[in-house]
Amino acid sequence: MDPNPKEEWSIKDFEIGKPLGKGKFGRVYVAREVKSKFVVALKVIFKEQLEKYRIHHQLRREMEIQISLKHPNILRLYGWFHDSERVYLILEYAHNGELYKELSKRGHFSEKQAATYILSLTEALAYCHENHVIHRDIKPENLLLDHEGRLKIADFGWSVQSTSKRQTMCGTLDYLAPEMVENKAHDYAVDNWTLGILCYEFLYGVPPFEAKSQADTFKRIIKVDLSFPPSPLVSSDAKNLISRLLVKDSSKRLSLQKIMGHPWIIKNANPMGVCE
Ligand code: ATP
Ligand code: MG
Repeated sequence: MDPNPKEEWSIKDFEIGKPLGKGKFGRVYVAREVKSKFVVALKVIFKEQLEKYRIHHQLRREMEIQISLKHPNILRLYGWFHDSERVYLILEYAHNGELYKELSKRGHFSEKQAATYILSLTEALAYCHENHVIHRDIKPENLLLDHEGRLKIADFGWSVQSTSKRQTMCGTLDYLAPEMVENKAHDYAVDNWTLGILCYEFLYGVPPFEAKSQADTFKRIIKVDLSFPPSPLVSSDAKNLISRLLVKDSSKRLSLQKIMGHPWIIKNANPMGVCE
């Protein structure tokens, strides 16, 4: 159910609808391919911006990676085209928007919903690692929901850009593994750490190492200063999974395969990736 695959797209192939959002590098609109009536999200990036931040080569490389990744929990990039001023990315449309908004609205998720999202993310990451794509920048803002509530990892492969953005914008450190905040060598196991952070945040509504200042968050991450506030809603199985992911030694973190087989996931997650 893709839009017509085509060598050369142009803006004339699309009817542009309402704006969906604005990012650092461009705006996103809902759009419909004229011939197939297929609804997509069109991300428009000004070339001037790409030159200013010197990211055009990186954008091209990352677009090639995202085009090749086809997984139900990874937002599809169907294609791209450009005119004299802009680059357009033809993206899968995530009808239910940002997971982050859903989390803020509800405060926290049920164990069923949290486990379903964690399983979806784990499967998407396992697929990426199999395809030798590592180091993701998974955080709630980069997770979107489709019309059925299925989780989609967006902004795929923009990790270097996101890192520089984070530094310049003094954004949050909350999702970074200890080896990353300490600027040490890191590998795919940073994703396993982030799964632990997200699992905690989904269940408690706040990330585990939240603090008043960046410096304090930094200290809490490197100490792995983890505690579980009393909650009748969070089971010991959930806490077990989180504790086995938030481990300082990256080689000792639970593997993606073992997450999929963890009792909390088996008991709670919907393998179809959708929840009520
Ligand atoms: P960045 O420039 O780093 O990607 P960003 O994620 O804030 O920053 P965009 O990816 O440009 O910005 O997207 C802006 C907003 O538009 C998103 O936060 C989201 O709400 C919405 N959006 C983006 N892509 C889609 C999509 N495929 N379907 C539905 N909404 C989308
Ligand atoms: Mg984005």
